[in-house]
Amino acid sequence: MTADLIDGKELARQLRGRIADEVTRMRADDDVIPGLAAVLVGDDPASRIYVGMKHRDCMEVGIASRMVELPADTSQADLDALVEELNAADEIDGILVQLPLPDHLDERRIQELISPDKDVDALNPYTAGRLAIGDPTFLSCTPYGVLELLAHAGVDTVGANVVVIGRSNLVGRPLANMLTLKGRDATVTLAHSRTRDLAAVCRTADVLVAAVGRAGLVTADMVRPGATVIDVGTNRADDGSLVGDVDFEAVAEVAGAITPVPGGVGPMTRTMLLQNTLTAARRRRGLEAPE
Ligand code: NAP
Repeated sequence: MTADLIDGKELARQLRGRIADEVTRMRADDDVIPGLAAVLVGDDPASRIYVGMKHRDCMEVGIASRMVELPADTSQADLDALVEELNAADEIDGILVQLPLPDHLDERRIQELISPDKDVDALNPYTAGRLAIGDPTFLSCTPYGVLELLAHAGVDTVGANVVVIGRSNLVGRPLANMLTLKGRDATVTLAHSRTRDLAAVCRTADVLVAAVGRAGLVTADMVRPGATVIDVGTNRADDGSLVGDVDFEAVAEVAGAITPVPGGVGPMTRTMLLQNTLTAARRRRGLEAPE
């Protein structure tokens, strides 16, 4: 392998250390304990694992975590009422409703109901709109993690050609918006399943981000020598192991730097949720961010 490995696990560890220190300081100096509420509806095993991990992450850095578990047959009215209650709860700074919700519940409605002040998952259309007009409030966790990885790897996005594959509201679209903010100043191509000659488009990239959910989609011939490759995808290989969208072994011989899966973007996503919760706690109480 010739590419530098961008170690998301290590960067996440460092950032969590900083977040924990800041939570400790807020407790001592401002008498504030940041609080995150995570809502799980139904008993999807993967969702339960994710919510459990987020709960443990909070405990690790000193953020107060409130887990609310509701049965799969919870009505829309009851879920709405819970979100309104959490919006009004002073000790709660961030609200996360784990997706997917059972089919009878309206995800978009719930996202719209979460107060923009507490929208740490950044899925409320207001939050997305603020980012789209270049005046963001919260940054969605996975693309925020990608930005941190790029900064950590010393990649300057100003004037860089960045190709993002995947245009979901969760990852690709907000990432494209973040990269084109003033200060980041990338020239972004947002590719998707209808993109013509994806390989040729990808070869224009100084930075290539894959966020599709298809193992082996990005092959070595699609990567410009020396490019930075960020693999957001998570897929199960035939042997049950976790793999990304990028053919890691082959691409690592061409790229200048690359994230692994696991140990790249994944740990960063969880960490940026903690960062957003801290930010929400500060803003709601009018506290300054540390230097
Ligand atoms: P999604 O909503 O399914 O979106 C996938 C995107 O990929 C769509 O825009 C789709 O295009 C595009 N696409 C599909 N096939 C393609 C192809 N052959 N060529 C080019 N583009 C193609 O998925 P998502 O929620 O964004 O997640 C993407 C991946 O990231 C998944 O593997 C997910 O598990 C992973 N993920 C990881 C993390 C993490 O923390 N590591 C967080 C979130 C997501 P169309 O729009 O044209 O359909």
